Amino acid sequence: MVLDVHVLGTASARPTPERAVSGSLVKGPDGIAIVDCGEGFQTRYALQRRRLKRHSVGETLKPSTVDVLAFTHGHLDHTWGALPWLQSMDLENRQQPLLIIGPTSAEVAEALLNDEQLPEAAPSADLARQWMAWFALGGDMIRFPIRWVLGVVNADRWVEVDPTSGKARLLEKMPQPEGWGNSSLRPVPTQHTVPSCGWMVQQKAMAGKFDRARADEMQLTTKQRAMVARGENITDANGETIAASWFRGGERAAVSVLISGDTATTPEAWDDSVSPTLLIHEATYLEEQQNKAEEHMHSTAAGAVASAQAVGATYLALTHYSNRIKNSKTPEDEAKTAADGVAVVALNDNDRLVVDDDGDLTHLKWESDGWVLANIPPNR
Ligand SMILES: [Zn+2]
Ligand SMILES: [Zn+2]
Repeated sequence: MVLDVHVLGTASARPTPERAVSGSLVKGPDGIAIVDCGEGFQTRYALQRRRLKRHSVGETLKPSTVDVLAFTHGHLDHTWGALPWLQSMDLENRQQPLLIIGPTSAEVAEALLNDEQLPEAAPSADLARQWMAWFALGGDMIRFPIRWVLGVVNADRWVEVDPTSGKARLLEKMPQPEGWGNSSLRPVPTQHTVPSCGWMVQQKAMAGKFDRARADEMQLTTKQRAMVARGENITDANGETIAASWFRGGERAAVSVLISGDTATTPEAWDDSVSPTLLIHEATYLEEQQNKAEEHMHSTAAGAVASAQAVGATYLALTHYSNRIKNSKTPEDEAKTAADGVAVVALNDNDRLVVDDDGDLTHLKWESDGWVLANIPPNR
């Protein structure tokens, strides 16, 4: 099993001819998690499926396996593609349930629970406001089952909104995408101008690698090897038990991908207990615009490195570039200068990042006629 990340937009607020706005997906052992869904997302997703069909035969991104759409915050460059895409899935007769989840403020959550008007101070980009607008625009008529869940992430308080009545109820805990058992979704608080959080997809820890040297030493036959590798105990010629557990070391570390969305550098809540294998972090500005980054609660490339260090990430991938950044090489160079101990890559649209069970990362760069493979030394 692996975590396969497809990054379908690397622009910040405005798209360019080369870069679309935010929208990524993580394909894991249980299904697909979409993280953010900016303008035109459904077309980008369809094009990526076509690219896979042409250049990576056998790999698929079936829309029916999308289990969750998670928003990092409500700015339009992260949300505007959602309603049209939901409507298309409805037209395609989707039946599978979908969890839609994102952050809001404590005040908005209380207003929803008390069936009151949303507080005037709540920004227009609050997800609750947008969802109400989507419901009014036909979002309430979608026929496949959708759970609309808003969270006050710092307080771990989760509210489910009914699209027909607009009424909300308090949940005991954050729901997981339906049917997920080998991986989990977890919010990680961030700091932006509106309620925000990052989303981490974590795969459960896998058993250690098969110890081939030990199998050689014990002169196991091919059949015996296959059996112990599958986890079956066997009996040797002398009637002694050979336990499958002798050939597996301890558990490997659980691998994970954290997509942080828009955030100021090193959010307060971040510490190295989070420790994602891969952090995908914004680098909206270059060093020369450090002031702007602070003013708008965004990050520079060097700021992304500081975030990666604070959260204990092994790898850092940069995205969400402002229009001033013409070539991703520039933020990559700035980050590398600051990256003491963190392996850095800079993303472009349609790139993939594959994290395997051992926590190694492969960067598949999209090059217009296929993906070009680059292994990233972890710098561990
Ligand atoms: Zn943004
Ligand atoms: Zn934003």
